[in-house]
Amino acid sequence: GAASDTGAALFLWPSSAPDAGGHHGHPPFTLAPYGPMTRRMSANDDLKALIRTIPDFPKPGIQFRDITTLLLDPTGVARTVERMVAATRGPVDLVAGIEARGFLFAAALAVPLNAGVLLIRKDGKLPGATIAEDYALEYGTDRIAVHEDALVPGQRVLLVDDLIATGGTARAAVRLLRKAGGLVEQAQFLVDLPDLGGADALRADGLAVDSLIGFPGH
Ligand code: AMP
Repeated sequence: GAASDTGAALFLWPSSAPDAGGHHGHPPFTLAPYGPMTRRMSANDDLKALIRTIPDFPKPGIQFRDITTLLLDPTGVARTVERMVAATRGPVDLVAGIEARGFLFAAALAVPLNAGVLLIRKDGKLPGATIAEDYALEYGTDRIAVHEDALVPGQRVLLVDDLIATGGTARAAVRLLRKAGGLVEQAQFLVDLPDLGGADALRADGLAVDSLIGFPGH
């Protein structure tokens, strides 16, 4: 099936690279993990190559990391989900996704993780009784919400989104999920912009944070 094909391709690609071993006559996996090969390419460069960068969107100076190009690629989607699932630590009851791109990954991860999907929505969208959390934007504030009965206190929640930048959105999501009684100990992102500090801030909030791809700078 598609999943096992993807797995086989993933396993084989380093040794099929022409100069993967660095020196002629050496098998590809005899070098130390931080040898020449890993300095040139990291494990998720196949996915990174599928992300398009659009300069000056939505405003001058922002390098927009556009994941829609990765989403259009069947192998890219399959490998993304597979690797995010593999990075998940222990069982989770719910995968919480942040509107809107986070929903895609929450649903895709929830199926193999045998978890439910919890929607973290912009304020005013959910029909039932909600609890909300505000967070600061560059100018003003924004508000996210969940149904107040979306989780049973003590349930283990994995937080996911497409990208973490300053972490303002994800940290508000963690406050909200914890306010609702959730046990929020890990977060997963497809893309991290490490220089903006969001992932480190989440770690300071007590979460294990994983991302497949990093773009230095911002
Ligand atoms: P932040 O709250 O600063 O961590 O911003 C996170 C949210 O904004 C994520 O849901 C991203 O989808 C979006 N975002 C922020 N910066 C970028 C960027 N450079 N490229 C694409 N999306 C971004």
